[in-house]
Amino acid sequence: MGRVCYHPCQGACNRVQLDEMVGVNAVERFLGDLAIANGWQFAPPGPELLSDRRVLVIGSGPAGLSAAYHLRTLGHAVTVREAKDEIGGMLRYGIPRYRLPRDVIDAEVARLDRIGVVFETGSRVDDLAAAADQFDATVVCVGAGVGHHVSIPAGSAAKVLDAVSLLEETAAGSPPLLGRRVAVYGGGNTAMDAARTARRLGAEEAVIIYRRTRQQMPAHEDEYRDAISEGIRVKWLSTISEVDRGRVVIERMELDASGHPRPTGLFDEVEADTVVLAIGQDADLDIIRGVDGIDVDDGVIGLDAHMMTGRAGVFAAGDAAPGDRTATVAVGQGKLAARNVDAHLRGRVHTAPSRQAQALFSRLNTWYYADAPLQQRPALEAARRTSGFEEVVRGLSEESALFEARRCMSCGNCFECDNCYGLCPDDVIRKLGPGRKYAIDLDYCKGCGICAAECPCGCIEMVPEDR
Ligand SMILES: Cc1cc2nc3c(=O)[nH]c(=O)nc-3n(C[C@H](O)[C@H](O)[C@H](O)COP(=O)(O)OP(=O)(O)OC[C@H]3O[C@@H](n4cnc5c(N)ncnc54)[C@H](O)[C@@H]3O)c2cc1C
Repeated sequence: MGRVCYHPCQGACNRVQLDEMVGVNAVERFLGDLAIANGWQFAPPGPELLSDRRVLVIGSGPAGLSAAYHLRTLGHAVTVREAKDEIGGMLRYGIPRYRLPRDVIDAEVARLDRIGVVFETGSRVDDLAAAADQFDATVVCVGAGVGHHVSIPAGSAAKVLDAVSLLEETAAGSPPLLGRRVAVYGGGNTAMDAARTARRLGAEEAVIIYRRTRQQMPAHEDEYRDAISEGIRVKWLSTISEVDRGRVVIERMELDASGHPRPTGLFDEVEADTVVLAIGQDADLDIIRGVDGIDVDDGVIGLDAHMMTGRAGVFAAGDAAPGDRTATVAVGQGKLAARNVDAHLRGRVHTAPSRQAQALFSRLNTWYYADAPLQQRPALEAARRTSGFEEVVRGLSEESALFEARRCMSCGNCFECDNCYGLCPDDVIRKLGPGRKYAIDLDYCKGCGICAAECPCGCIEMVPEDR
């Protein structure tokens, strides 16, 4: 996740109002790499936790891996069945190696192996009901690996393929022949990866054709920036209306008053030996068709508030379930599904712990924090990138990672700076020792509020006394 997470946490980081957000993702990557380098392992579940329950996880993408990890550490026997020959789902067969090297995935999977998760590869589950009957619970994590198609008039010699197949074949070591010029249709992250992959497979020109504007493009800013720096061009406000050998006819679009693209009747042409469609993916729901009690809801598996389908004991998570389609959400859903499965197996109902109130910027005393610039991650020079699949973005050094971690203002979470302890005029604050924070003797506190007003991270709250 330190490599592929789109880090929504950084967008919400309070420090952005002071100078720049904290590079949480880069620190996460540093820790992940350190864990691999040092061979850190997960603790297997202790004997007191071990249950005699067996859980089947179908699919080994981030949702399945996360569910398997949490279920195993909660004490259950876990089997992961994966249709493909290798583990990882879109982490391995979608996201290209130049963003996520395969030895990193292998190291993470090996860690799950060591705590006893059983992986069965090349083992597609076709009959969900029959498979589920052999286990005490099942988590369906089959993802959304079916590329959307649009009907574009295409001559018989036109070469059109979908981005998921291009990326999958490339990942499996047998990339398709694309030719010298490639046009990619779509404006999401998959389009960026398809165009960047095409460049690495030898295409001298890769152009992205997108029907809206840059501001409306769903691709993540970092991905777009990296694609542009690798020489990829974008034709905005354009749709493909026809494809033939070596040529793509494009209709120019314009935005109507509500911001929707509409055709103009004006046409253009670009030269392209191959057209790659990157216009979204669907969940492969064959697995649930005809299974009693399981419904499809808006193209994904319908779930109740506990992530369970209409069939008792069958849960779902990740891209095939409702929610945003990112690895981050898949990992979170895998964990939540595991907790719900565990509760179900133990005859309980899982309730999420209550959340702490949000620590807003207005609660902080930012002048206690020194100015500190965001540590930029080093990257492979643009000129060397397209000659192979070498990783582009590099990790922080230990020194930079420590610096970056110290930029965190710890909003709402006491970090034992002793400010309250030093400033209290009544000496009613006691230190409880490292990591254990403080106690306030409320019998002697006069409620002056200096501690709360001067707390750098806004973690002390003044609550009116009952009268
Ligand atoms: C090109 C591309 C780039 C992306 N980049 C990012 C990124 O940078 N950051 C990010 O957060 N997200 C990214 N995403 C999205 C992210 O990869 C997905 O949201 C995530 O992988 C979903 O996880 P999942 O476990 O639900 O499904 P998947 O990762 O799709 O895994 C599903 C697995 O189930 C297996 N399977 C399917 N049917 C069966 C069956 N019947 N029996 C057994 N096994 C089965 C499949 O073979 C597959 O291995 C990207 C997606 C693509 C396509």
